[in-house]
This record gives sequence, C-alpha cells and structure tokens, in this order.
Amino acid sequence: MIRFEELAGLTSGTLLQLKQEYGIQHLLTDSRRLAHPVSSLFFAIKGPFNDGHRYIFNLYQRGVRQFVLEDYLAIPEINHNTTLQQLFPEANFLQVSNSLAALQRLTAYYRQQFSLPVFAITGSNGKTIVKEWLSQLLSPDERVVKSPRSYNSQIGVPLSVWQINQNHTLGIFEAGISRPSEMEKLEKIIQPTWGIFTNIGQAHAEGFVSREQKIEEKLKLFKNVKQLFYCRDHAAIHAAVTAAQIPAFTWSRKQTADVRILTGSVRGNQYTLEFAYQNQNGLVVLPFTDEASIENGLHCLAVLLSRQVPVSEIQQRFLKLSPVAMRLEMKEAINGCYLIDDSYNNDLSGLSIALNFLQNQTRTKKKTLILSDLLEAGLPEAVLYQQVAELVRIHRIDRLVGIGPVISQHQPLFHLPQEFYSSTAEFLKNFKNESFRNETILLKGARVFEFEKIVAAFQQKIHGTVLEVNLDALVHNLNFYRARLAPKTKLMVMVKAFAYGSGSYEIANLLQYHRVDYLTVAYTDEGILLREHGISLPIMVMNPSAESFGKLQQYQLEPEIYSLEILEACIQALPDDESYHQKIHLKLDTGMHRLGFTENDLEALFTRLAAVPQLRVVSMFSHLAGADEALHNDFSQLQISRFRAMTGQIEQRLGYAIIKHILNSAGIVRFPEHQLDMVRLGIGLYGVEATGSEQDALRMVSQLKTTVSQVKVVAAGETVGYSRRGIAREPKQIATIAIGYADGYDRRFGNGVGQVFINGQQVPTIGNICMDMCMLDVTGLSVKAGDSVEIFGKNSTLTDMAQRIGTIPYELLTNISSRVKRVFYSE
Ligand SMILES: *Cc1c(COP(=O)(O)O)cnc(C)c1O
Repeated sequence: MIRFEELAGLTSGTLLQLKQEYGIQHLLTDSRRLAHPVSSLFFAIKGPFNDGHRYIFNLYQRGVRQFVLEDYLAIPEINHNTTLQQLFPEANFLQVSNSLAALQRLTAYYRQQFSLPVFAITGSNGKTIVKEWLSQLLSPDERVVKSPRSYNSQIGVPLSVWQINQNHTLGIFEAGISRPSEMEKLEKIIQPTWGIFTNIGQAHAEGFVSREQKIEEKLKLFKNVKQLFYCRDHAAIHAAVTAAQIPAFTWSRKQTADVRILTGSVRGNQYTLEFAYQNQNGLVVLPFTDEASIENGLHCLAVLLSRQVPVSEIQQRFLKLSPVAMRLEMKEAINGCYLIDDSYNNDLSGLSIALNFLQNQTRTKKKTLILSDLLEAGLPEAVLYQQVAELVRIHRIDRLVGIGPVISQHQPLFHLPQEFYSSTAEFLKNFKNESFRNETILLKGARVFEFEKIVAAFQQKIHGTVLEVNLDALVHNLNFYRARLAPKTKLMVMVKAFAYGSGSYEIANLLQYHRVDYLTVAYTDEGILLREHGISLPIMVMNPSAESFGKLQQYQLEPEIYSLEILEACIQALPDDESYHQKIHLKLDTGMHRLGFTENDLEALFTRLAAVPQLRVVSMFSHLAGADEALHNDFSQLQISRFRAMTGQIEQRLGYAIIKHILNSAGIVRFPEHQLDMVRLGIGLYGVEATGSEQDALRMVSQLKTTVSQVKVVAAGETVGYSRRGIAREPKQIATIAIGYADGYDRRFGNGVGQVFINGQQVPTIGNICMDMCMLDVTGLSVKAGDSVEIFGKNSTLTDMAQRIGTIPYELLTNISSRVKRVFYSE
C-alpha cells in the first residue's frame, strides 16, 4: 500500500495507528542499525553527505515494510521500467516534505504523552559523562530513561526520547548543536523540566558568529525549565542566564552560589572537596582527580543536593562512579579472540548498539556475548529478558555467557550454546583459557558486575604499537566523496595493499555495509582473503598472474586485463562450459605508461574478444598520472580525451554498453565533469585529500601510537644508539619507544628528522632508528615509562610526516608492518 500524506497535524490517533495498525515499535534512521525489521519505521533522511533513500530497497529486502520518505524517485532502484508497486509490493510509504522534520514532530508529540520530569544537558564538553553519572547517581531513587551513548543530535535526540515508556520516572537526555536554530527543535522534543549547562569552550565554533551567540542558542533548550544547573564561575554563561531570566541553581568556587565549594584537594587518585549548602558544610570524595571529571562531578553534586539526597548517601554513591567509555573498540585477546569491552553500563538500548557493533565485525566467524543482569528500569523482568533473547537471536550470536542471578533465571528464553554463572567471581573461578578461541567477544555488563576483571583475564599483553582506525571517520570520508557524485555514478573503492595499510576485510566489510559498488585489490590473494571473510561485492583484481585464473574463477574475482598476453592466459584458463561467462575489466594506457592496452593493440584485442564469447567486458578504465597536481591539468585532460576516444571505439565494436572510469580520489575533486559511469576512490577514504584543497573536509582515520619503554638520563659526552649518531653535548633525558623501522617507522626519521608527540608535547628523535625501537630527546619534559606516544594522528598529520622524509602519505601508510596491531573503533 502506498500513501502520500503529510505527517502533520498529529493526533493521539496517529500514534495509536502507528503502533497498533502497523505494529511499529522502533524508529530507524540508519540501515546498519536494523534489528527489528517487521516493527521498524524507517525514516529516509537526506543529509549533507548521505541519503537514506539509497537504503530503502536493501531494507525492504531485509524485511522492513514501513517507510517515511521525501521522494520516491530518489530511490536508486526505481527507473523508467520499474514502478514503486513492482519493487515494493508490501510496503507502506508515507511521503513527507522533510523526513527529519517528520521524525522530530512525531517524537515531540510522543514526548508530550508522558508527564515524567526530564533533565536536559548541553554544553561544549562533558554532556555524555554528566548524563551517565547522573543516571548512576539517581538510579537508587528513580527509574531512568536516558540517551544511548552520545545520541544528542537532531536525529539522536528523537531516537532517545522514543524510548520513554510508562514505567520510567525520570528522563536524562543530552542535546548538542552545530548551527543556530537547531536547539529550538531539540527543546520541543525533550521538553525539559530541569537543565544542566556543563560549560562553554573558548573555541569560536563553526556555524556561530560568536561565543555569545552560541550560548544564547544553547539557552533556548532551557526556556521553560524550572531550574538550570551551572557553574557560576563561567562568567559568560552566568551573564546570559541572568539576562534570559532563567531560574538558576549554581555552584561556585569563588563567589556566592547555591553550592559554594570551599576547598578541594587531591590525594592519590581521589579528590576531596568541602562545600557549603544551605548553612551547612559537607565533605565528599570524588574517585577522580582531573579537571574535567571534577567539573562533571560538581554538576552532579549540585543536582543531588537540590534533591535533598543526604550527604552521607551522596558520598557513598559518588565513590561508585566509574569512568565512561566513549567509544566501542576491539582489542586483541587470548587465543585469536577479540574483545569488545563495553562494561560501564547495561541497558537495552546500549545492548542493542553494542550487539550491532559486534555483528558487524568480521575478524572471526564466531560471535560471543558475555552479558550480566540488565539494569533496565522501564520494563518488567519477563518482558525485558524476552527482548534480550530476541536481540541475541536477531544479531545471530553464536554463544552466550550469562552472569548474574536474574539472567540465570531466564535461561530457558535463550536458544543457543550457553553457560550461566551466578556472579563474576563464579565465572572467573571456572574460567579456562582454552575454552575461548577465535571468537569475537562482547563484554556487556552493568558496573556492579566488575567486568574489568574478566577483561583482564582475556587480555593479552600486546606489543606496544597499534594503529587505531576510526571507522566513523572512514564513513565520513566515504560520504564526502559520495556527495560529489552524480546519482548514477558508481563507486569503486580501492582496498589494495590491506586497504592502504588500514586493515583489509574489516574495511571491506564496512564498505559493503555502505553499499559501494565495487572493490579493487592488487593481487588475487588479497581478493581471496576478502571472499573468505564474507565479502560478496564484485571485486576487481588489478594484477592477476597467469597462474591465478583458476582461483579467480573459483572465488568469482574479476581480472584486470591489460595486455594481449594476460588476455591469452585468461582465455586458456576458461572452463569448457559455454554458459560460463568471465567478467573482465580492460585497462587502457592513456599516458601513465604502466599497464594497459594502447591504440595499436585494439584491433588484435577486438579479434580475440569476438572469437571468445565467454568473455564479458564489464568495465574499461585508465589511470591519471597527475590528477593530484594542478600543474598537470592539461595532461590529465589529454588523458581523458584519449580515453573517451578509445572507449568510444571499443564500445562501438563490441556493440554493448560498458562501464567507463578514469578518476581516482584527486580526480573526483578536480574533474567532477568526467565522472563517467564510475570513479575509483583510494587515498581520500583513508583521510588524505590528495589535491590538498579540501583536506579540511576529510577526517583523520588512523593514528599510529606506541608507548615509552624506558626513560633515562645520559651524561654529557655520551652517545645514543647505533653508530653513535645521537650525541649528548649536555646531559639529556632520553626516552626509548617501542617502534622501529621493522614496524614501518622509516629509518630516515632518525636524528631529529622525525617528530612525535607525548602528552601533547612535540619531541624529536635522537640517534638512528633501530629495527624495533628508537630513542627520543625528552630533556626537560615530564615523560615516564608507559606513556603513550603519537607517531602520527591528531597532532602530526601523515602529510607533514611524509614531507619530512620526501615521500608521500601512501608510502607511510602501506609501510606499517603487519605486526602492528590494528584496533578498529566506532565513536
Ligand atoms: C590505487 C589506484 C587508484 C586510487 O588512487 P588514489 O590516488 O589513492 O585515489 C585508482 N586507480 C588505480 C588504477 C589505482 O591503482
């Protein structure tokens, strides 16, 4: 059924209809997060980089039936000979002028149905931590519903609010904005009773004309609150709150405020503070000492005091606070296992997100969940564990370890290999190292279960050097390039050389989720590895050897054919079966003079292709020699025109349409008018914009980090390292770090050419780089063994580093050796 109507003028009938008639329980905006096809309503949202309409067909195939969309013509699978009815016979479509606005209106209306009081939190930093802590601190008194992770955006807030149900007694939601006018919308959705304004950064934020404007915008969240909690010492916030006449509850270290902080002192890893509130003094101890945590803790203290929680009780609750993991990451563990440690809280929405992350990992086939009792306020136990069992089933978990008395009671709900333990101690008592092997293990436990003890049991001591790969940044970069393509232009992504050193099937898998059209590897082995890890996208192999064609057929890999000789090898390997078709890609040499057919080869090529009907040319392409440099623009144009001429001739002679492509990453930015049928994205995906003009629009994907092994003082006149090249003219402090040229830290970085960062300070190398380590001059700096060292990343870009030794980022990335552990994470 297809209906076109506005989701305006909502009534309680609309909600009832959505829930009862269409059975909708879940709102979905990101196709990768699909867990409940039948009961989800998908909002196809058009963003600056991505377009939800692109995923509708895929979601339909996976069982989703209810869609809100803006324009059915934006579904790529719709064309002049397929209609909506033919493609989606069972779907309901609700067409609206703006899907995001519809989502926001729906959830604002949903929120109105509940009278529960709600905290809204905004500010430049600390939103997520204050939200998580406040929820921990108030959970003895309240049944809390809160934003999952950092869901605080124009989409995240609606999804957060949709979780509210009858059983909750308190909501805690965070709100973040990047542009004027956004906060008003979030205010309508959250409808807060109280507010917390954590702080405001100095940075002159993009999207706002001034810091004052930013504060004013943020305050729109609080226009109807009963009380706003903030630190009076933030003068700009205080001035704006006063001017806006918002009722305040303040704390301060310097001046009169509702809560006056009198003293504060650090002892070990605790911070003790003395405060005055309503004519009485009190003491609390925070289990943290850093500035940011103390500020976050003080906001929470103010809230607890205002709620008249007794000081002794506050003290006990504070000591149980735990740090908040801001991202999900994979760590290597014993026996070829990988760990995803997400043990700081355990509720349904968090579990669903973490399971999704687990399911998307392809390092091991087997997926294991170690799960404690859930602390989910809103649902009766039986319903809750029914839903947990459902999530476990949907995410195709292979093995379950349940820990805790409650989950153990619900054992019959789970239908998979399983073990149950009454407590973490019980699990550890029975823990056998060898019973976990080659599996990816998600640890999801509520704080009280102290899963960090389990993490320790699983963790391996790893070589101190890791390459951290930010999967969200990679997707951001993918979407940056995608946004530049015409709707029908296909996207091929180069994952050769272990995806430019970043991984291989991990990256390919992500690209498959994001529905790129083609992948390309350099060698057959690389392609086989992808197939063995479940990659089903078409894969082109650029350099197939004559012996590898059998394997290419077996794994459905598509060779690049670049010469008459390799064409013959391909033909020789064809099976006798006439119905077998071999897909091939023709490489044309238009000026790079590496591989490829030239004009002169074409006649012979046509003759062979005509004689062997089993061969299907699916694409033809050429490579630009100088797309990254404007200096070569004329030559690039010449290559493009040669390419157009050659491909025109080939298509005419073969008599069928063939995909044509010539642009690499730099080409996509520089020659958008020559996208042809497909483009080939490489280095840009990994965060380097090769023309240099759009570097700021890309995000950094990988950071290479290592650790300090030892720090020592070397007397004047001594030397450091091989060949005595590092000379200490005066006494020097030297740090030895765990990376050398065998890890990919080029020998040319020795003797001060390389600059790395420790605790935010730039330090030079001293002496020659050794095979497994190298030395740094850290004289006068505070550095100790165990400190983390950034080789490249936030402070030092790949491009800068490459320039120092006269190479290019491509070489640095692909040189990172395979013994360096890759850690993939999502924010
Ligand atoms: C590596 C490669 C690309 C990608 O180049 P980038 O500069 O990394 O975007 C494109 N086409 C061919 C043939 C390649 O070998």
